[in-house]
Amino acid sequence: MNLNYVDSEVDSDDKIEVKFSKPVKSSGKYITYIETIGKTFSKLVDKHIGLGWDRCVFKENFQILTCLNCCAYGHKIQSCRNKPVCQICAGDHNIFQCKEKTNISCINCMKENSRHNLRHNTKHKANDVNCPIYLAHLIKAKEKTNYS
Ligand SMILES: [Zn+2]
Ligand SMILES: [Zn+2]
Ligand SMILES: [Zn+2]
Repeated sequence: MNLNYVDSEVDSDDKIEVKFSKPVKSSGKYITYIETIGKTFSKLVDKHIGLGWDRCVFKENFQILTCLNCCAYGHKIQSCRNKPVCQICAGDHNIFQCKEKTNISCINCMKENSRHNLRHNTKHKANDVNCPIYLAHLIKAKEKTNYS
């Protein structure tokens, strides 16, 4: 697939790579994932770009690396050396072995509560996008990202 930049000026040292596309359920639309560098990103974010025959809006997709084994942030399960903690119920097994259906707890909020004497609601999964600990990590990671 070719990118042609309708509304944006992109120089030869900008970098854009089309990763993959996936259809959005029964809407006839597609989401296309693009990898880029900070400088290019700043130029394109929220702008219309041409992608093949289509015009689309370029949006940020910021993700925090969350370990599927121990629920900690910043590393993957492949490099995890911690004991398993369940993302669903905070039990001592990983998410793949979980049989819990009703008792949902967020280990990261539980830890933070006991560490700092806080009262975050813990009745959500550790990978919940509204988890306050997840959101705090997201903000921190965004601050660290250099868009220039
Ligand atoms: Zn881990
Ligand atoms: Zn579990
Ligand atoms: Zn949480």
